[in-house]
Amino acid sequence: MALITCTGCGERISSQYAHCPHCGQATNPEIASSDAVTVPARQQKKLRQRTQDLSHLALLAMVAGSIWYYIDSQGLKQPAGDGPIWLMGAGASLYLYLRIWWLLRRLRQRGNDQ
Ligand SMILES: [Zn+2]
Repeated sequence: MALITCTGCGERISSQYAHCPHCGQATNPEIASSDAVTVPARQQKKLRQRTQDLSHLALLAMVAGSIWYYIDSQGLKQPAGDGPIWLMGAGASLYLYLRIWWLLRRLRQRGNDQ
């Protein structure tokens, strides 16, 4: 096992890592393209899990807001208050934000690998 200098942040890291544990920069194209298990890969999995949990929470807020809206408007017979609309909006915004953030993150990482 050799130590190499990360081209992204200059930290000394093991050459076994496909990505720098400090900044995520791809260190070795050969390892990066293989299925080598790395610490960043584990962190990636944990982060993906957390993002999915938050996405589900956002969807839950949208569903709860819809139900609240239906009850508050007495079966859509009258205008509902601001509460349910706010809850639906917050859920939708959070969900969209997470999806876009995750997409951009994946695109950035694909760029680093090449
Ligand atoms: Zn680095």
